[in-house]
Amino acid sequence: MTMENSKQLKIAILGGGLGGLSSAVALRRSGHRVTIFERYDYAGEVGASLSCASNGGRWLHDWGIDPLKAKPVILKTLVRHDWSTGENEGVYELGDYEDKFGYPYYNFHRIDIHNVIKDYATSSEGEGVPCELLVNHKAIKVDYETGHIEFENGSTFDADLIVAADGIRSLTKPQIGISPKFKPSTSSCIRILFKTEDVLAKGLHDFSKNNSIEFWGGKDKNKIVLSPCSDNSVVSCYCFFENNGTDISDSWHNEISIETLLNSVPNLDPTLQTLFKECGYDIKQWRLYDHEPLPYFVKASTNGAKGVALLGDAAHAMMPDQSQGAVAAFEDSGALGYIFSPKFNSLSMEQRLKLYEEERKPRVTKIQAASLRARENLNERIGWSSSSDLKHEKKLTIEEVCGYDMKAHIDLLSKSLFS
Ligand SMILES: Cc1cc2nc3c(=O)[nH]c(=O)nc-3n(C[C@H](O)[C@H](O)[C@H](O)COP(=O)(O)OP(=O)(O)OC[C@H]3O[C@@H](n4cnc5c(N)ncnc54)[C@H](O)[C@@H]3O)c2cc1C
Repeated sequence: MTMENSKQLKIAILGGGLGGLSSAVALRRSGHRVTIFERYDYAGEVGASLSCASNGGRWLHDWGIDPLKAKPVILKTLVRHDWSTGENEGVYELGDYEDKFGYPYYNFHRIDIHNVIKDYATSSEGEGVPCELLVNHKAIKVDYETGHIEFENGSTFDADLIVAADGIRSLTKPQIGISPKFKPSTSSCIRILFKTEDVLAKGLHDFSKNNSIEFWGGKDKNKIVLSPCSDNSVVSCYCFFENNGTDISDSWHNEISIETLLNSVPNLDPTLQTLFKECGYDIKQWRLYDHEPLPYFVKASTNGAKGVALLGDAAHAMMPDQSQGAVAAFEDSGALGYIFSPKFNSLSMEQRLKLYEEERKPRVTKIQAASLRARENLNERIGWSSSSDLKHEKKLTIEEVCGYDMKAHIDLLSKSLFS
């Protein structure tokens, strides 16, 4: 893709998580010069599984990313187990996502997909100017009027467009006038991983080969979701439960003991308990928060020439119960890439930002609300229950999530807003 030089923007992306990196690829593909600023140096955290429904995979393909490089497992079925015995209560087809929506239901190991997108963003191969990635750059001041950014290490940067992909505790939000409203959830989540080679070596139950989401539903909000990733070499397990009173911070890095995990999910299937004790590693707990939708996602300068766009969790942190947080960030990136492509060169910065907000805000607000409801009621979960099980006006359906033609929608919005 070529771009009129006059429209090539200097773009700063704050945050090198999945949202920041995917927007870097998308904006690079649209012909811009992109610098990503990440506060840490990526040492340590590998994450657990990250499922990516067709509405996320669509964008990876659109940017020329080969998802197979991230060693996904393609999820095909859901297996339900009795909480305390593990007895198989039924196997449900998840439906052929690829056949229906064009792209499969990928299950990645977070570190794998993170590294692959990072490579595509910064590689000298592929369309567009390679993005620069600067680690140990924590943004501390963002001026939406001038595009000027200050970093904790003393450096500064001037951008035409600032993409704030700085996560759930985004420092940019207050600097563009937003005071986020959120409250702690009554639920919490612990993740634990097993290596397939360890499980096999110890002769324990191997969940890695089913290409399934294995589900244990317990009392109240307790549930366990287990799935294989990384070419089936790792099994990842999320345990959701009523808060256990453990005092933890907001970080992604709260290591906890196996005893805390077992006490949090009492009377659990002995097969799982044995796996936890014998093979579990990287056990971490997250706090969960219920975030209210933000009043706006973008802020343009008074003269309309510069601007800030919030993206990913910075714009719409949500409960993990629809597995749509990172996927929604991929959609945000797809929207930015498309809106800032030469097709919309006749629009000003302010108009492009407005178009982004008009497209993204209603859609992600609906997904955010449906994610919160799914924390309370499993029948709200898209793709796990047929849409006919539960009918109400706000019920999110798999068709509207995975079958969404965002480019066509943006074309329509652009016409109705600006012609
Ligand atoms: C238990 C759990 C399970 C989940 N499962 C799924 C799933 O299966 N599928 C799915 O789609 N989503 C899932 N999600 C949601 C998903 O993890 C998030 O939506 C996604 O990681 C958001 O990406 P992000 O880049 O917006 O934010 P983050 O991943 O939080 O990245 C933000 C980045 O910005 C950096 N940063 C922060 N402040 C600054 C600053 N001032 N300057 C510079 N850098 C800064 C941070 O260090 C970080 O690298 C899950 C979430 C949880 C909690």
